[in-house]
Amino acid sequence: MNVEPQVQAKLLELAGVDAELARIAHKRTTMPEQQEVDRLEGERTARKDAAVAVEIKIDDLDRDIRKLEGEVDAVRKREERNRQLLQGGTVAAKQLTELEHELGSLERRQGLLEDELLEIMERREALQSDHEHAGAQLTRAEEELVDANRRRDEARADLDGAERTRAADRDALAAQFPEPLLAAYEKQRAARGIGAALLQARRCGACRIELDRGEIARITGTPAEEVVRCPECNAILVRTNESGLRGSAGQ
Ligand SMILES: [Zn+2]
Repeated sequence: MNVEPQVQAKLLELAGVDAELARIAHKRTTMPEQQEVDRLEGERTARKDAAVAVEIKIDDLDRDIRKLEGEVDAVRKREERNRQLLQGGTVAAKQLTELEHELGSLERRQGLLEDELLEIMERREALQSDHEHAGAQLTRAEEELVDANRRRDEARADLDGAERTRAADRDALAAQFPEPLLAAYEKQRAARGIGAALLQARRCGACRIELDRGEIARITGTPAEEVVRCPECNAILVRTNESGLRGSAGQ
């Protein structure tokens, strides 16, 4: 393939723009702003789970409290009934003793139940405060996430802008190449990431391998118009005065 050396040299500009586009694409996948969003999303989930776990414990205690309150209520009713019977004065002496005895044990049972109830209510109060704390942490994580999402969107918009500019540069540049040269460049870029590179001090700018004497002699003997490829990576090699080709036609 024969292409004017000046046009071949412009491939370096195209490769530069493509490298910039690749850097932008890489930045997009490694944005610290996105990593922060991911971290905060994880934190929000953990905070939510913590709040839910406390809610479940509170629900369990509420059930225990209702049950105990029901028991206390039943004991009180029974005590009330016994007192009324005792006050009625119509029960026999034997039943009187039994009623008094039962009343005594009911009162003791009530005391125990009430102590238990009090203890559970204290635990519930502590959990309620845990729940409020968990809720506050959840709210803070959600607020931080809103900020982080905004920063991520801004960073992404910056990359979008840079990418649009570079893409426009690329379109303008690409239009300056003959179709077969551009096709060869694109094919190589798709295969190896870099389509064209400067041959600099006998080294391929794409794969960084130094070409041996034989290859350098072959390239030196190749007319400047002829497109040469790297024998190692097949990148289009652009020849200039920096290429290290003695008496080279490359400009
Ligand atoms: Zn190479």
